[in-house]
Amino acid sequence: MTVPGPRVVFADLGDWGPVRLLAEYDAAAGVIRIDRAAVARVRAALGDDAAERFVACAIAHERRHAERPDASEAAARAAGAAAAGVAPDAFDAVLRG
Ligand SMILES: [Zn+2]
Repeated sequence: MTVPGPRVVFADLGDWGPVRLLAEYDAAAGVIRIDRAAVARVRAALGDDAAERFVACAIAHERRHAERPDASEAAARAAGAAAAGVAPDAFDAVLRG
């Protein structure tokens, strides 16, 4: 028997204070939300493969937060990047620049 993971949906997340939200884990709803505008920016700048890797990275990042709530942001970034096969800063220039 496998334990189901969170559902993954695309949404318009917008900003959280000064931070642009790229993805979030909603424990109460059992949902990982990924910002559709962020996916579109990665796709426009880096292509379809990069967009797929960004989504994989975001899911793994949020799953790390879900599975280990005490994990640091750096640890979640590293876990996401490793799962997607990219550098932890692979999308920073596109998404934060
Ligand atoms: Zn995080």
